[in-house]
Amino acid sequence: MITRSAPGVHTCNQQTASDSWQMQLANCVTQPEKLLELLGLSPSLLPAAVNASKTFAMRIPRSYIARMEYGNPNDPLLKQVLPLEQELQEVAGFGIDPLGEQDKNPTEGVIHKYHGRLLLITSGACAVNCRFCFRRHFPYQDNQLSGRHLEEALNYIKNNRSIREVILSGGDPLAASDRRLRQLAEALADIPHVKVLRIHTRLPIVLPDRVTDDMLSWLGSTRLKTVIVLHCNHANEINGNVKTAIARLKQADITVLNQTVLLKGVNDTVVALVELSEALFDAGAMPYYLHLLDKVQGAAHFDVSRESAQDLVRGMMERCSGYLVPRLVQEIAGKTSKTIIPLN
Ligand SMILES: *Cc1c(COP(=O)(O)O)cnc(C)c1O
Ligand code: SF4
Repeated sequence: MITRSAPGVHTCNQQTASDSWQMQLANCVTQPEKLLELLGLSPSLLPAAVNASKTFAMRIPRSYIARMEYGNPNDPLLKQVLPLEQELQEVAGFGIDPLGEQDKNPTEGVIHKYHGRLLLITSGACAVNCRFCFRRHFPYQDNQLSGRHLEEALNYIKNNRSIREVILSGGDPLAASDRRLRQLAEALADIPHVKVLRIHTRLPIVLPDRVTDDMLSWLGSTRLKTVIVLHCNHANEINGNVKTAIARLKQADITVLNQTVLLKGVNDTVVALVELSEALFDAGAMPYYLHLLDKVQGAAHFDVSRESAQDLVRGMMERCSGYLVPRLVQEIAGKTSKTIIPLN
């Protein structure tokens, strides 16, 4: 765990627990210069960061920056969000729609690839822009679920009785307001064959104050079974506020799982992965998937080879309980589920 946090992050910005999550979203750090200043990092990192943030904006909540180690350019949290020159290099095999999602849209805002479940692109926004994100080139502006598009999406679900589970995805679905999400949850609960509401979100990790009473009220009162799949990549991401947020989700009878992306320089050691699983379990979230990086343009420098990934997971199995070992998976365009990577 980190021992030192950035001086000034709390004091200069007067962030208090009473700041609403919306205010914290609005106060995200988006200027690379500001980020380097808050962390006492060398200005030599600036030109590349400015350059790379032109194609994919930099965006980081201050409470996330507060979990980084001051003065450490290799901090595992910083590495996930600091724009680098390498992002601009074109690398063979890394494309703009690695998962083939852009032609799996039966209607705006819906991605239906697997049997029994589908994704609703509930919000194009995120609290944080992760540099490795496989959706960094996704045409969100064409996939906003509102008005007529929302109605069409709901009709699509109504007319497909095989759909048991609706997964709110994004962007980050929890970037949407509780008012909108409550309406959506109610509309989904009105469809009898829908049994489960799942939310894929990074917000309770990067901005844990998002887990509000209001959110727990609509999530805790639906007839649907509820599952939240968090996205946490490093034990240092889990601080006291994150633990409180997860504990509150569990109190509302929500199943809490976690998925991680295997990232070079961030979590590609057995020690980092075991610490992450232990920290997640301690906080009340079960490891679900460990994803090989999706081959999206701009993220090649995060890639860990399949062989190294297999070694890492075998290493985990030798060091921790079986239930702490996530399933190593890869998303391959055109497949009918995630692909499990065998370990031997
Ligand atoms: C990952 C994913 C799901 C969920 O898959 P599970 O294996 O059930 O977690 C559903 N739809 C799409 C399009 C996905 O990419
Ligand atoms: S969709 Fe998830 S991984 Fe991508 S930028 Fe948003 S929070 Fe990060």
